[in-house]
Amino acid sequence: MMNRRQILRAAAAGAAMMTYMRSAQAATYDLIIKGGRVIDPSVGLDGVRDVAIAGGRIVAVDADIVGDAVETIDARGKIVAPGLIDIHTHAGRGKDSPALALQDGMTGFVDAGSGGPDNIDEIAAVLRGGPQIGRALVNVATRTGFTGGELLDINRANVSLVRGAIARHRDVVIGVKARLSQDVAGANDLEGLRRAQEAATSFNLPVMIHIGQSVSPMRAILPLLKRGDIVTHMYAPPPNSILDEQGRLIPDVAAARRRGVIFDFGNGVSGHFTWDMVERATKQGFWPDTLSTDWNAMSRTTGVIDFPNVMSKLLMFGMPLAQVVACATTNAAKVFDAFSDRGTLNVGAPADVAIMELREGSFEFLDNYEGRRTGGHRLFPIATVLNGKRVPART
Ligand SMILES: [Zn+2]
Repeated sequence: MMNRRQILRAAAAGAAMMTYMRSAQAATYDLIIKGGRVIDPSVGLDGVRDVAIAGGRIVAVDADIVGDAVETIDARGKIVAPGLIDIHTHAGRGKDSPALALQDGMTGFVDAGSGGPDNIDEIAAVLRGGPQIGRALVNVATRTGFTGGELLDINRANVSLVRGAIARHRDVVIGVKARLSQDVAGANDLEGLRRAQEAATSFNLPVMIHIGQSVSPMRAILPLLKRGDIVTHMYAPPPNSILDEQGRLIPDVAAARRRGVIFDFGNGVSGHFTWDMVERATKQGFWPDTLSTDWNAMSRTTGVIDFPNVMSKLLMFGMPLAQVVACATTNAAKVFDAFSDRGTLNVGAPADVAIMELREGSFEFLDNYEGRRTGGHRLFPIATVLNGKRVPART
């Protein structure tokens, strides 16, 4: 039997051993995001939870996670959402753009048509060098040296050149973009779209069209779209918008959605949306499937500002917060296979997280025609986690 002194010594040794083991072992988690309002529409979750991350993946989402973490983010009072996926940006135009967009929570993006077959190599190089998943839609028309619209001369849209661009960049190019407004395409809108479709379908890829102020009406354009294709700038004003002269949603538009065509917000800067169009369409129940910014490196100085600001605009029109988050995460992830494991905080998923704050107050929002509307809430980007690692904050 041990005497009292021996017992104490054994206990001390045991405690020392425990301390040693704890410090020698790796912590249970790399990161815990504590106490935020987790909104993950991919699993129908909206509630206060902790999110635990290890090895770059989500390992637990629970009410109160115990266990050591190398780093903890206090998210009380904040919204914790899957990393934002923006399917219409121009983040491939500048070497530093992907990292800049990442600071605002954009953990995945699509550059929509900055590169035609002639300059896609440069865009693809930027995307490959970026920290997050960046993919591209190749423009159906060559881009270099054009003044005005790239489809005004239809010879710029060469199907075999587009196919060649896709074949060279299968890892980056995930679709084809065609801009159809009159200043870009003139009377070549339908032929430009046909050529985009011809190139895309040979690789089983989607086409994204930019609508608004086109020569051809929606009833002529929409039949050229297949399931999974995307209409961006969905609330672009007339001529030839998604509404008829009486402001009613054109039946062909609703029919296109029913057969699987995606309708995307596409904020942009000029010509792409008016508050009036948003109001009329949403009052008829025609909401976006996906939200997007049409982002570029100057966006912080325009009405875009950042992705959470664009999301706030739909919130102002009464879209529920969980649906707004869905449009910027899980819905966007479903549009392109490249994001098939993203847009979710489900256990096992890559740990891409956007932490935002929903502030109350008086916030002014801009459309593309100097129209101003004031909303009572705005989402602000607070912190971003990419593949389990916290991204340095925006300065
Ligand atoms: Zn664009």
